[in-house]
Amino acid sequence: MSLTNRENPSYPKFIVGIEPPAGRTEKALWFIFRGRDILFKVRKNPSAIPKLVDFGELGLPVVREQYLGMLEGTHCYSVELPADTKAPEGMEFVDLRKAHSEISEGCFELVNKAVQVVEWDRTNQFCSRCGTKTVQKPGERGKECPSCGELFYPRISPAIIVLIRKGHEVLLARSPNFPPAVYSLIAGFVEPGETAETAVAREVWEEVGLKVRNITYFGTQAWPFPNSLMIGFTAEYDSGDIRPDGFEIEDAKWFSVEDLPALPGKISISRKLIDHFLKEEGLEV
Ligand SMILES: [Zn+2]
Repeated sequence: MSLTNRENPSYPKFIVGIEPPAGRTEKALWFIFRGRDILFKVRKNPSAIPKLVDFGELGLPVVREQYLGMLEGTHCYSVELPADTKAPEGMEFVDLRKAHSEISEGCFELVNKAVQVVEWDRTNQFCSRCGTKTVQKPGERGKECPSCGELFYPRISPAIIVLIRKGHEVLLARSPNFPPAVYSLIAGFVEPGETAETAVAREVWEEVGLKVRNITYFGTQAWPFPNSLMIGFTAEYDSGDIRPDGFEIEDAKWFSVEDLPALPGKISISRKLIDHFLKEEGLEV
């Protein structure tokens, strides 16, 4: 993830490609989706992602196929399946929200990319301005309306997430959508015309009624729920009493490192921010 890159920038292992290679002779990685479920191999040796010369080997119906690019010399494709597709022998559909616990962080990054390309293709078949069928724009991950010229690129929605410290305590909050007992950080989408830092101050004020200061950039993470670029910050408590909005946040409290609730999964930027705080507090993570 980009957080790793921030600390240790390296040559990208994945090269984005638009035009698929002519002919298929070598095995490629196939990211296959049925809605927000991904098709994984049941026995993983070594990858959960099916490796096939051609998708047709699985004998499944296909709605659309996209070429993604190359991962260290291996071509990658994504495929959209009809909603009623059954998993073939030796494979299973896994909900995207659970998929990251079964694969590596690098692999999840590609799954994230693949599902967003599938959704961009699926939701931009027609021009939203005039209704004409769109066409692929040559050499770009974009579609063009042949009638009015409108362009459609994959949508990426910036969202902020912030770890707020108060001395040796951290503010953790619960959304009603979280798994039972899990607490995480304050997060929200950036509004049109707003800077990320302003969004931090506004979200914290709206969701828990606090004022913060020293808003400091931490790192970013692409997150496919649904198409976010999470922009991580740290901040210090300035003033106010915790007042959960009761809508997006049902509970929020200050926690010390001795007294932490259930936390989000290791792969998420929220957990990376929390682990960063724990390290600062002298804990091994
Ligand atoms: Zn149009």
